[in-house]
Amino acid sequence: MASRKFRVSKQCFHPGCDHSAIWEFDSRKAYLNSHEFRLYEKGHAPYFCAKHSRGNGVLSASNLFAEWISEPSRPMEKYPEDPYLSFGSQGIIFGPGFAAEGCDFPTGTRIKVTAEVLLPETDHV
Ligand SMILES: [Zn+2]
Repeated sequence: MASRKFRVSKQCFHPGCDHSAIWEFDSRKAYLNSHEFRLYEKGHAPYFCAKHSRGNGVLSASNLFAEWISEPSRPMEKYPEDPYLSFGSQGIIFGPGFAAEGCDFPTGTRIKVTAEVLLPETDHV
């Protein structure tokens, strides 16, 4: 027997935008322990869709390329004496198709991530 999911939706807070996000959880308890509950319900943060929270980073038919560059790596805040470097608050950064550990690079290293849309080729007669 399939279990019933607990669904939550939020509409984008940007004026005039009708995009909504829908999240499904295994139970209400799972929702109450979720990042979404802590951020949008408990923290009262407004939800913004990708288009209104990421601006030019959203790929589309008219925006086929995006780029992001990390902050420079630095010593871990919790363990400043440790030579292990951090990208952000963790020692490792992940993305689709890659991962990088701060300890493999000198202090100040930045990671540049690019994304490009490769549209399907169309037949020209
Ligand atoms: Zn929006």
